[in-house]
Amino acid sequence: MSEPVLQTTDLCRSFTQGDVTIHVLRGVDLVVQPGEIVALLGPSGSGKSTLLQAVGLLEGGFSGSIRIAGQEAASLDNDERTVLRRDALGFVYQFHHLLQDFNAAENVMLPQLIRGTETDEARSRSERLLTALGLGARLDHRPAKLSGGEQQRVAVARALANRPPLVLADEPTGNLDEATADVVLAEFLGLVRGEGSAALVATHNERLAQKMDRVLRLHDGRLE
Ligand code: ADP
Ligand code: MG
Repeated sequence: MSEPVLQTTDLCRSFTQGDVTIHVLRGVDLVVQPGEIVALLGPSGSGKSTLLQAVGLLEGGFSGSIRIAGQEAASLDNDERTVLRRDALGFVYQFHHLLQDFNAAENVMLPQLIRGTETDEARSRSERLLTALGLGARLDHRPAKLSGGEQQRVAVARALANRPPLVLADEPTGNLDEATADVVLAEFLGLVRGEGSAALVATHNERLAQKMDRVLRLHDGRLE
């Protein structure tokens, strides 16, 4: 059997403010296999974003083990962690965080250029991904000229630009109306499958979670 793309063991995260400590993650054990699309389901405040932030190596402050593509995050120095994030992970957030001064194609090219991909190759992959998401006629539109659903599609293309083995998505359609959310999620999942990536997708929406390969429920700081 191949190595998991993500494995956490006894992952814990608490926040202390003054003399109050809240234990948000209380020992999360999680395995995501290559190519698998997993829903992380829980109500608002259950710790989904906290879990994705830890797994995304965005901040420290947790205890326990996080292995990404076989590498133990805690054993890496800052530079190594940055390289692992760049090469192994793609991110989609609820709010797209696109760069407003760049058009759609450029927003998808940038992570590739940062990684050292040739400009022509980055452009053609960017155009291919955006076309697959129905944005072939919007390549040179800046985010402000795109609808919410279109902006989120650009964010999806950007997350997949460097062919990450694992995409982390935090309420990726949470900012869209229900009909648009359904369409964008279906396109996102189709593209992730087509690319052969795995995904961990946080949502509070049971119906959306059921569209994924497997559903993990976050409850009282653990997965059930
Ligand atoms: P979800 O994404 O499932 O809505 P979050 O992970 O955002 O949940 O939050 C889980 C809990 O952790 C909440 O009670 C929230 O207030 C708390 N929390 C999250 N981030 C911080 C922080 N930086 N400082 C203090 N408390 C936090
Ligand atoms: Mg959240």
